[in-house]
Amino acid sequence: MEAIVSLSKRRGFVFPSSDIYGGFNGFFDYGPLGVELKKNIRDCWWNDMVRRREDIVGLESSIIMHPKVWQASGHVAGFTDPLVDCKASKQRYRADQLFFSAVEVVNPEDNSKQIIGYVSALESENTAGDLQDKAESMKRKKAVRGNLVTITPRDMTEAKPEEIALIPSPATGEPGSLTEPRAFNMMFETHVGALRDESSVSYLRPETAQGMFVDFKNVVDTGRVKIPFGIAQIGKSFRNEITPRNFIFRSREFEQMEMEYFIHEDADWAKSHREWINWCKSWLISIGLPESHLTEYNHPQEKLAFYSKGTTDIMFKYPFGVQELWGIAARGNYDLTQHANASGVPHFIFDEATKKRYIPHVIEPAVGVDRIFLAVLCGGYAEEDVTDEKGNVEKRTVLRFNPRIAPVKVAVLPLLKNKPELVQRALDIYTRLKRRYAVFYDEGGAIGRRYRRQDEIGTPWCITIDFDTIEKDGTFTLRERDSMQQRRITEAELFALLEEAVY
Ligand code: ATP
Repeated sequence: MEAIVSLSKRRGFVFPSSDIYGGFNGFFDYGPLGVELKKNIRDCWWNDMVRRREDIVGLESSIIMHPKVWQASGHVAGFTDPLVDCKASKQRYRADQLFFSAVEVVNPEDNSKQIIGYVSALESENTAGDLQDKAESMKRKKAVRGNLVTITPRDMTEAKPEEIALIPSPATGEPGSLTEPRAFNMMFETHVGALRDESSVSYLRPETAQGMFVDFKNVVDTGRVKIPFGIAQIGKSFRNEITPRNFIFRSREFEQMEMEYFIHEDADWAKSHREWINWCKSWLISIGLPESHLTEYNHPQEKLAFYSKGTTDIMFKYPFGVQELWGIAARGNYDLTQHANASGVPHFIFDEATKKRYIPHVIEPAVGVDRIFLAVLCGGYAEEDVTDEKGNVEKRTVLRFNPRIAPVKVAVLPLLKNKPELVQRALDIYTRLKRRYAVFYDEGGAIGRRYRRQDEIGTPWCITIDFDTIEKDGTFTLRERDSMQQRRITEAELFALLEEAVY
């Protein structure tokens, strides 16, 4: 992770927000290469999800919506995470990310068990191991004889009231300062209009999805859609996360790509749900995520909201653990029903076949652009030993971005910068490529160094304009990032290659 965060900053992918003021926890800026990568991710999704399908239309709803939207959707009452305070350090923790265990010792003589204290640790890749180490250290410090019982981690939402006083705060290492978990609403509040009182409170949206439900009727009334159909939106969402972490994985301002797919109330929702899970997975592979890093997690029935029929997350193996990338939820007709009831505006679809009205059900694939961004960085990052023509071994850092999303598709390199014929020819090709693709012109430094610079930002191809180009057949050298192989290619062949790979 450290290498990826450092490369991101050094090469202009991601900067901490307000960096010169020391950053602002949970907020990030995307630099010159980052915006290109992010835009490509968005564009691929939009093209595949909306433009290339007959059954899905787009939407851009406002970020601040009528406060009644968030009351009807249940967010005002229930969009909460459990929060634990440490009164001593003033630190706050998400209760479901703070783990603890009793430290229990068995006396080998009479097999009696004794709890000698409690240990706690923040969720990590090795939470159980951390707790076990702390338990062993406690046993040593207290010089207790006997065998330690293997710890079983529980999170703070599972702590009994009498245990809370005994669990040490991760900030101070001492018990007595943690509070009982309480519900913390994650929506950012703001005031709309000149009055700043209760009546002017509104919210920055915590998801884009409600826009699709609230505009459902408007979209249906445009007459372009017929069940089954989807409404898709890309846009910023805001959540006052208690513990933003893992770089851009969990931030307070992020971007979502969500689609609500409306189906007949009697349709086979499980089939549609499965089709969308498969679609999302194939799409992730099409932009270059390694299939080996993708798994599925089915939310257990008892943890689902009462209206939910099923939720499956596509998980990605990040360096900090396997985590949710894309959630695909079957939400029944809960959202449309809520808005129909709260607004008094009916949300029915008329079934011509049965002559009956019904409220459609919905399948919702919801993903974060920033989480995909991080996944393609992590999945594509590699450090390799390479041997140059002289036999010297050196390290190369490479981002193996799929050409669809690579911020720069081709780097155009004249072999020598002091030969005007080479430079002119290179600039000509560069100009023609630039009309259609994001390309980069670089004439500075040894050719090998220029290749390395492009490897590090994930450029799939470099072309080198040399004397053969101007004196012979006009072909130039195409160097491939991953294989590092070189071959001669014509300009027409290069355009054909790009046409095939960048879509
Ligand atoms: P988590 O359990 O990780 O908090 P969630 O289940 O609350 O996520 P959803 O409400 O289903 O997430 O949001 C849909 C998608 O939006 C997630 O799968 C994720 O890709 C993205 N997302 C959610 N919260 C954040 C965040 N704080 N930062 C970046 N992306 C996020």
